[in-house]
Amino acid sequence: MYLIPIPAFTDNYLWLLHDGRRALVVDPGDAGPVLEALAQHGLTLASILVTHHHPDHTGGVAALHEATGAPVYGPATESIPEPFTPLKEGDTVQALGLDFQVLDVPGHTAGHIAFYAPDVDGQPLLFCGDTLFSGGCGRLFEGTPAQMLASLDKLAALPGSTRVCCTHEYTLANLRFALAAEPGNAELAAYQAHCLRLREQGLPTLPSTIAQEQLINPFLRTRQASLVAAAQRLDASAHDDIAVFAALRQWKNQF
Ligand code: ZN
Ligand code: FE
Repeated sequence: MYLIPIPAFTDNYLWLLHDGRRALVVDPGDAGPVLEALAQHGLTLASILVTHHHPDHTGGVAALHEATGAPVYGPATESIPEPFTPLKEGDTVQALGLDFQVLDVPGHTAGHIAFYAPDVDGQPLLFCGDTLFSGGCGRLFEGTPAQMLASLDKLAALPGSTRVCCTHEYTLANLRFALAAEPGNAELAAYQAHCLRLREQGLPTLPSTIAQEQLINPFLRTRQASLVAAAQRLDASAHDDIAVFAALRQWKNQF
């Protein structure tokens, strides 16, 4: 299987997974670059997966469906271009001979879902939309801090080897914040140097892995003493997990 992040807009990635013949695409906000990639690699589009309703994730869905006939799968409780198969936690999507488990991950939007394949060439793969980013997490447009923390905990519980396909190249900006929140984290400094080298070469910092994110992502590390202390400097009343997460997310919004 080949995994390709197709750059779109200023910082989106439209993820293409293919076996040399057939492809699936996740969150095609724009049809043009997907059609180009399909033509370039001689691929047939077999499935269109959508994590949430934002236009930078759905803008190309109708055109791709029309051009290829590929079926569309999306979140049951959100409005995305019809026709599509509505999905919720516990459902499974079969695409390219793989089984993708659907996870409910509300927070960025109320009905946001993620797609998890336990075995893609022996390694798990996650398409998490705008829920988890490398070094960060999505903004809380529709959900509560409690929902987002539960969603991130769910993703953090996946195997460490899981490749994490996020839909935005936000990594360097996220890591600047992460270092401000957790300046003593040596793994974080090393990861920032690694990601800076990738970006200087024009390469994506993604996919990440769950193991990597557990070492460096402040929003997966909200129970670490250093991050609890950082949150309490912002909000002295932040004593439980949710309040710590909310304080850190609020700080990042203003960073
Ligand atoms: Zn979004
Ligand atoms: Fe987005």
